[in-house]
Parts: sequence; structure tokens; C-alpha cells
Amino acid sequence: MRYTDEFRNPETAGYLIEIIRHASKPVTIIEFCGGHTHAIMRYGLRSALAPAVRLLAGPGCPVCVTADSDIDAALWLAGRSDVVLATFGDMLRVPGSYGSLQEARASGARVELVYSALDALALARELPEMIIVLLGVGFETTAPTIAAAILQAELEGLANFTVLSLHKLTPPAMRAILSSQVRVEAVLGPGHVSSIIGWQAWEFMPREYGIACATAGFEPVDILLAIRSLVDAVHQQQPRVINTYQRGVTPAGNLVAQRMMASVFEVCPADWRGLGVLAESGLTIRARFERYDARKRFAIEQVPETVARNRGCRCGDVLAAVIEPDECPLFGTVCTPVRPLGPCMVSAEGTCAAFYRYGGTL
Ligand code: SF4
Repeated sequence: MRYTDEFRNPETAGYLIEIIRHASKPVTIIEFCGGHTHAIMRYGLRSALAPAVRLLAGPGCPVCVTADSDIDAALWLAGRSDVVLATFGDMLRVPGSYGSLQEARASGARVELVYSALDALALARELPEMIIVLLGVGFETTAPTIAAAILQAELEGLANFTVLSLHKLTPPAMRAILSSQVRVEAVLGPGHVSSIIGWQAWEFMPREYGIACATAGFEPVDILLAIRSLVDAVHQQQPRVINTYQRGVTPAGNLVAQRMMASVFEVCPADWRGLGVLAESGLTIRARFERYDARKRFAIEQVPETVARNRGCRCGDVLAAVIEPDECPLFGTVCTPVRPLGPCMVSAEGTCAAFYRYGGTL
């Protein structure tokens, strides 16, 4: 038996669903992470738990929250004759103000799909005459790997390797949601991010907002255990952080990864689709490593502003948990995974993609 099997056990899941469904009053929970949204939809947990629990999807898809202006900067870089833009898969199809990287590639731009930062380093070794720009998109889980690549580039003296850092930090986004008009009573905390930053990073939620948070893995029993603990915490009026993902998350997280991140990056404001510019919610490359910083190397701040295409896409509202995807008039008609209009339909972790694939609101 694989270790994940016990977290997929239908009898255990059914038992937990029964307990949760018999709770005395309904509870609204937001899941931060796009991986949780997909698992919840895939296993039918929304409908199984209704009406005892109402689950809302949050802004936890790094591709989806990347702002148009940042995608435009990537497009501008891709258009340079001296640049090879290296990107992870989902970013290829995300539309900016004037197209996507995929469209830019079709028009002749050098855009390369990579599966890790190491692939981008390999490109830098293979193509010394070009400048490689790795599109650094992700949360606290991705940033340490990009930091490691920059340290490796320095070690090897790879002068043609750079990163456009669009990394984002999750606690400020959670604060923004909890300070907004969206009413939730508890938070399903992200599993992978928590494995890096530790569950103690979420203690501000009960302390400052009176909201319970449970870190969770991605199997159905993981998620149900977390939801059950959240429902208990709400009913007992004892908001607290509960680590139900003990096989992956420790109180302080992965200190090696945190140190690596801190050695290369420093905290900066970041523009989140749906949430706007949030203070101390992004990571920029420290001055000591500025030769690896595409923003500095190519003076990105001077890229001319573009006029956003009015596509009618409501990804911003979806990411801020203001609407469900099927409340967007374009959902499933004009906008589908084959012809996506917005990042929430493009990304493998996008909420609109999850709704399209597994079914919509109850
Ligand atoms: Fe945007 Fe498509 Fe989602 Fe509507 S359905 S919010 S257009 S991604």
C-alpha cells in the first residue's frame, strides 16, 4: 500500500463527510491554493459537504495572479533579438495586453518552455551569444529553486543568465482577502507553501482576524481532516492554526529554503491581478545579484505602458473570491480551456479551469 492510499480511502472520506455534514451551523471556508481548488472539485467535495460547508476559491494560483503589466514586460523582453525568454508551461498561453508568449513565439520570438530553473541554466550554457531571461513566476515554493539557479549562475560565471522575478508571497494576499468584503469564517491554508514557510506563518489569522486556519495536503482525506478541524474551531469559537498536514509541514518550515530565498531576494511591493498592489508581497533580486536581474539589465521600468485589452474577463473578481467562475458571462461559451480568455482558464491551477473540468457552483 502506498503512503497516499490511506489519504484516498473512500470509507475514511465518507466517515469524515458524514461528521462534517452533521455540524450544527453552516461554515464558509476559503481555500487559498489552486491545487486545493482542483482537488476539491475533482473529488466532488463541494457538493458532498453542502450546505454544511460553503467552499470559496481564493487567489492561490501564481500564474493567474500575475498582472497584465508583468506579462507585457515579458512580451517586450521576448521581442528583443538578443533574448531567449524561458518560461514554465502555463505562462505561455496567458494573455497580456497585446497577446501571449505563445503568440509571440509564433511570430518569431525566442520563447523556450522549461520544466525547471536548471533547464534555463542549461540554455544559458548552450547559447552564450544570447541572454536568457527566466520568467520567475511562483510563490514561496518556487522562489528557492530560482534563488538556487542564480547562485549556481554566479558560481559558474554565467553572465548571460537573468531572471524576471515576479514571485509573490502568500501571507499578504491572505491578509488582503481577510480585510476585504468577502466574508469567511476559516481558511484552508496552502500545503506546499506552508511546507516552506511553516504553519506558524499563519498565526496572524486567529490573532488579528479571529479566523481559524488549517494547513492541508492534497488528497481527499487530507482536505476533509482540515475542514473538519476548521468546522470544530468555528463552532467552538476558538480560532487557531491547526496543522493537519503533519507529514509535510513543520512549525517553522524549511529553513534551508528560506535562507536561500533571503540570500538572493528581498521583499518588495507586487501587483496582484484581482488584489492590486500589495505592500511587501513580492520578491525582487538583491543589489548584490543585480547582473542576474532582468528588470535592471533591461531597464524594465521604462517599458512603455500598454492599453489593456477589454476582454470582459473577470479573473480579478474570481481571484478575489467576489464571484464564482460560472458567474462570468464568458465562462464556458466564449472562454473555454481550448480558447481561454483569462489566466484562470489557462492555468492548470486556475479556478475557471477547475469549474469547467469538474462542474460549477452548486
Ligand atoms: Fe476570465 Fe474566462 Fe474565467 Fe471569465 S471564465 S473570468 S473570461 S478566465
